[in-house]
Amino acid sequence: MKRALFPGSFDPITNGHEDIILRALPLFDEIIIGVGINSEKKYMFSIEKRMAFIDSVFSKYKKIKVHFYEGLTIKYCKSIDADFILRGLRNPADFEFEKAIAHTNRKLSGIETVFLLTSSKTSFISSSIVRDIIKNKGDYKSLVPSAVNFSSK
Ligand code: ADP
Repeated sequence: MKRALFPGSFDPITNGHEDIILRALPLFDEIIIGVGINSEKKYMFSIEKRMAFIDSVFSKYKKIKVHFYEGLTIKYCKSIDADFILRGLRNPADFEFEKAIAHTNRKLSGIETVFLLTSSKTSFISSSIVRDIIKNKGDYKSLVPSAVNFSSK
């Protein structure tokens, strides 16, 4: 079975994440969205909320599952038998950052990272911009999937 882990903070999920996941769907038998917990990072939304937002977006897709994990991504991949890591690339900065991690992960574990380029419509979106808009009570709705309603959570 071709199983991929799509790791990230998803604080919160955006149209950019949704675009990458839906476009990767034909490539894999199963995509596990791995919501990371990193004790050094400060999150706006709790792990429960971040997972609930993702669940509400993909509830009708049987091939998509949501997990949380801590620690090394490649260790988690091994534990769930995922041979691929999925990542999105927005710009050259993303590429430079991801390149070293992907090389390291392949050297340490043999796991391949599959990159998809973002759609032009969503390439400017980041969770940090969405967080800023939420904090300042702006209208974030066009940047996140329609199933997500932060005010109701
Ligand atoms: P991380 O903290 O690991 O960067 P994110 O939740 O910010 O977690 O991102 C997870 C993945 O989603 C990364 O591969 C990132 O490049 C990708 N991503 C983030 N925003 C977008 C976007 N607008 N379009 C496509 N991919 C995106």
